[in-house]
Amino acid sequence: MELAKRITEIQPSVTLAIAAMAKAMQKDGKDICSFSAGEPDFDTPAHIKAAAKQALDRGKTKYGAAAGEPELREAIANKLQRDNNLNYAAANILVTNGGKHSLYNLMMALINLGDEVIIPAPFWLSYPEMVKLAGGVPVIVSTDNSTGYKITADALNAAITPKTKLFILNSPSNPSGVVYTRTELQALAKVIVDRDILVVSDEIYEKIIYDGVEQVSIGALGAEIFQRTIISNGFAKAYSMTGWRIGYLAAPVGLIKAASALQGHSTSNVCTFAQYGAIAALEGDQDCVETMRQAFAVRRQVILDRLDRIPGLTCAKPDGAFYIFVNIGNTKLKSLEFCSQLLEQQQVAAIPGLPFGADDHIRISYATDLNTIEKGMDRLAKFVSNCT
Ligand code: GLU
Repeated sequence: MELAKRITEIQPSVTLAIAAMAKAMQKDGKDICSFSAGEPDFDTPAHIKAAAKQALDRGKTKYGAAAGEPELREAIANKLQRDNNLNYAAANILVTNGGKHSLYNLMMALINLGDEVIIPAPFWLSYPEMVKLAGGVPVIVSTDNSTGYKITADALNAAITPKTKLFILNSPSNPSGVVYTRTELQALAKVIVDRDILVVSDEIYEKIIYDGVEQVSIGALGAEIFQRTIISNGFAKAYSMTGWRIGYLAAPVGLIKAASALQGHSTSNVCTFAQYGAIAALEGDQDCVETMRQAFAVRRQVILDRLDRIPGLTCAKPDGAFYIFVNIGNTKLKSLEFCSQLLEQQQVAAIPGLPFGADDHIRISYATDLNTIEKGMDRLAKFVSNCT
């Protein structure tokens, strides 16, 4: 059967594929240490689950408005005001099936054939594929250690052409964990405004930051940048709600109406009773978020200390998210070989850097328990000592 050209031009999601493989191997009784998908190992907090259960009992089992339950759109607008200093109303919010779906809807609503979208590398592997699905052209701007793996204002400026429509900013970043400072964001915002392009700020890791770094939303830096900013966020990482599939876009009303129309013809509303769990997440006690953040902070330190003692591997200290992006260049293995041999020989699942735009790296997720981290790092050390 001849498939559509658009689908033959994209790659399956490696993060999902490796995570599913690791889970299947564990189910078969194999002792796998999985550092694969960025999926917090904590259960969803009890009050969030209770709110969804109550919504089920109250009959919230029917179709809802395609753009989301009005109470949830309102709660998200309040959250963006309270936490991010962004002045949105409920009409500026679209509730989606997870952060990934927000970004996909955005690309489909915004990108015309041939429009260029600037993506700093390393990048989350779904960004370029979504741009391609929408008919756009991903323009990858490499970054390295000299700028702390961040795109500079000059590099952004140099990458802009008359065809540039959008710049994808992800801070804290998956896979590198870098967090842009206010000053860096101000410089990027100036370029975005001066060159009259748009920015989507993927803030899914906003709550997972360390050592007192400040999380700034680029849209909060002034009226002109606010008009050019689209926010993408969701509940998966901060509230350990990966399987719930609830995310959102915040943007000027015209774009939200367009993306809602798309959603109305594709998925309709997000699971109605699940949205009531999301309301409880935003309006309930936020201690659960901080408890998980502190656990991630401990794990990050353990993994950094362990990596420090493995000759041949190097990494930058991440300020946010729950990933370590490890340079494997000294092993002389490409990232796919490294990860497949590591899984085969030591039963450790990690994600190759290739689909993130960095074939000399692997990504280790530490959204897992300390026992797995200790055991997995022992095995990683053994693997590296055998191949260096
Ligand atoms: N975003 C997470 C990750 O990068 C989950 C998997 C995915 O959606 O790619 O691991």
